[in-house]
Amino acid sequence: MPRDISTELIHHAYQPPGGFEAPQPAVHKASTVIFKDVAAMRARDWRENTGYTYGLHGTPTTFLLEERIAALEGGTYCALAPSGLAAVALVDQALLSQGDELLLPDNVYGPSVALARGELARWGIKHRLYDPMDVAGLAAMIGPATRLVWVETPGSVTMEFPDLAGLVAAAKTRGVLTALDNTWGAGIAFRAFDSGVDIVMQALTKFPSGGGDVLMGSVVTRDAALHERIKLTHMRLGLGVAGNDAELVLRSLATLPLRYAAQDQTGRTLARWLATRPEVARVLHPAQEGAPGHDHWRAACTAAAGLFSVMFDARYSRAQVDDFVDALQLFRIGYSWAGPVSLVMPYNLPEMRSAEARQREHLQGHLVRFSMGLEAAADLQADLAQALQCAFG
Ligand SMILES: *Cc1c(COP(=O)(O)O)cnc(C)c1O
Repeated sequence: MPRDISTELIHHAYQPPGGFEAPQPAVHKASTVIFKDVAAMRARDWRENTGYTYGLHGTPTTFLLEERIAALEGGTYCALAPSGLAAVALVDQALLSQGDELLLPDNVYGPSVALARGELARWGIKHRLYDPMDVAGLAAMIGPATRLVWVETPGSVTMEFPDLAGLVAAAKTRGVLTALDNTWGAGIAFRAFDSGVDIVMQALTKFPSGGGDVLMGSVVTRDAALHERIKLTHMRLGLGVAGNDAELVLRSLATLPLRYAAQDQTGRTLARWLATRPEVARVLHPAQEGAPGHDHWRAACTAAAGLFSVMFDARYSRAQVDDFVDALQLFRIGYSWAGPVSLVMPYNLPEMRSAEARQREHLQGHLVRFSMGLEAAADLQADLAQALQCAFG
């Protein structure tokens, strides 16, 4: 008896020929993964990326992206999370237990501290902030309960570039794991694992996506046992990424080195120009002579992200600086970075840094952060010039 068309539309026997190849890989989307037989179902193993179990545990598309991100970071294993912040949370949840202590740099990505204050604290995990420019200070803070040290190069918003290898060594000699937030370096500016760090996390939302339209994070390791701890927590928390989002990142990876270089060049051009302006007290760009941690940047990096902050002179009012930001036309006001559109964001340092950290010489004035898009540098400079004129006369 011929089968009903409703059945036929689902179980049609045709299989397209294999061997299809195109520049972009196929996009597989699944919750259910179909097993050939019961034995295959019973033999499933989601840990090693050797087979498929359930959409949440990976598809050919997410496995491919994991391999490419691991290669980008110079690591071996990768877990993908639905955002950069989810990747940070995954590391914390995989490695920390009640009674443990976590150390974070005092210029860490803000939501990473909010996570420690708001969630980890409720589970009995303590955290303290350390000065990332003081390796000996970090070494002195590490105690018997310290289990994990996060490092970030450079610090979010205020852009101090630390001695990464020094910080990692201080933790390692005391048997403490280290995790790097490598969103700025993106696997391009320096080889993260050369520092000895155990875990490299990245917000793929930024450079690897490059479109301002995908949220994703990655956690890369070289150590199989460490990866398994992360993978188990990843599985139990139900973290996964959508096939179409993985597709967008896979597509964008091909242009990552070119975009990184282009935005780096624009960033240095504009940072240099802004440093000559009388309204600007200081430009915080790690590749610029005199920037906090510039020597560490020079020793470790071959490039810089197209991202910098400017301290407007304290003689101006906050309102004048806001007027400058509002007067910009090509630089749009928005969070995140590394997309095609240049972005600007004024930050209120007193809300973000301890009173002690704010005493630092390079943090006097009003901070505005710029992220380079892919527009022409000359047009962006003209935009900055007209907005300076508009706000400061
Ligand atoms: C953006 C960012 C994150 C978080 O990424 P999301 O995908 O936005 O959650 C983490 N760390 C740094 C340094 C970032 O810039």
